[in-house]
Amino acid sequence: MEVLKFGGTSMGSPDSIFGSVLPIIRATAKRSGPPAVVVSAMTGITSSLLTLAHAAVEESFVDQKLLRSIATRHDAVISQIPRAAFADEAREYLDGELGNLRNLLKALTVIRELSPRSHDAIIALGEKFSAKVFACVLQAHDISAQFVDLEKLIPQSLRYTSDNYWDEVERLIAERLAAVGSKSVPVITGFFGPTQNGILADVGRGYSDYCASLTGAALRSPEIQIWTDVDGVLSANPKVVPEAFILRSLSFDEMAELAQFGAKVLHPFSVRPAVLKKIPIRILNTFNPEDQGTEISPETTSSTLPFKSVASKKGISVITLSTPRMLLAHGFIARFGEVLSRHQISVDLIATSEVSVSFSIDQSLENREPFLEDLKSLGEVAVEKDLAIISVVGSELAHSGAIPRRVFAAFEDNGLEPGMISFGNGRINLSITVHDADADRAVQVIHREFFRGVQQ
Ligand code: ASP
Ligand code: MG
Repeated sequence: MEVLKFGGTSMGSPDSIFGSVLPIIRATAKRSGPPAVVVSAMTGITSSLLTLAHAAVEESFVDQKLLRSIATRHDAVISQIPRAAFADEAREYLDGELGNLRNLLKALTVIRELSPRSHDAIIALGEKFSAKVFACVLQAHDISAQFVDLEKLIPQSLRYTSDNYWDEVERLIAERLAAVGSKSVPVITGFFGPTQNGILADVGRGYSDYCASLTGAALRSPEIQIWTDVDGVLSANPKVVPEAFILRSLSFDEMAELAQFGAKVLHPFSVRPAVLKKIPIRILNTFNPEDQGTEISPETTSSTLPFKSVASKKGISVITLSTPRMLLAHGFIARFGEVLSRHQISVDLIATSEVSVSFSIDQSLENREPFLEDLKSLGEVAVEKDLAIISVVGSELAHSGAIPRRVFAAFEDNGLEPGMISFGNGRINLSITVHDADADRAVQVIHREFFRGVQQ
């Protein structure tokens, strides 16, 4: 079974659902049988749900207008479902769940505390609505379909700390889908929580990409298709570099680096299940379905490009921990790693010298006092804020010493000051920190330097 995931824009309007997504499913079903479909919430709905939850808890306010707008957005789709029985089924579901939401929000105005469980219950609605409505759309068009709600997938007893947590989640998805069989299209909620600490803490926004990837692995699909609103992975963010072009193929390693370091097209977690099961991921455009998109596959692809892409990740701080005790001592990095692990801090870049270790973290983590206190017990701590990471990614870097030299020369020629530098992962990612305010310019400078005149 192929897995097709549709993002928020694809699910975002009646035009797109009936005019673009439906024909894609039809064509796939005709070609290779019913696919499994994973859907995001309609664009903007997850954010509205979060706004509602926070207004209830922080201001004791239930925003009825926003609630109504959520109903109206879905109603616009439901009212175009051609057969009354399926339209009624979708509407009844929507009304029922919105009623529950209203009650939950009211309760939150009194409790004024949002547990990870209630948080997840509210977020889940976005995907529940779009999956239910879309399953009804398919059925009304004579495509056998089943709504698959993963909200209660993970038992509370499954501990997040266990090493095989995600393998277990994948197994649970496989079990659930086996019950649907292969004759109808499972329309699966991209929300698959609640995870132990809440899906936003454990996975983050964009979690339905990860759901699609876990589903592809669970079904051992030939391909995982991520249908979005751009033609594929680009050589840079087109909002920053208008002349950025589409990359036709990328390796898993390259995609993992790009997703982690700023490319928004795919949630970084999505690469892992695909790597383990060697299933290619294809990024495709719902609004330009003829285009071949970008294929992400296990093989390192050779290209005629100097490298694949330059990305930036803003809102970074670099912490430097220094101590003379590190000099000629062993076990220091282990103690440092233990502090990171205890506070569940994930680090993007790391660089060491004989007496110090510098590492980058998301700015939002830097105010965690207990973490800083524990670090200070190991040595002197200095924090540098308002930075961005610029990442130049491509397997080509491993073979060309000229690329780093040209990157740094371009920095110098344009008055850009490199901060911390890391050239790891088999030399496919050269990452450099710069001041946050310089991030866009640094990306433009590098793209211009290497890709001027490259036409794909
Ligand atoms: N709707 C969710 C979000 O906005 C999940 C997703 O789109 O992948 O983050
Ligand atoms: Mg997304």
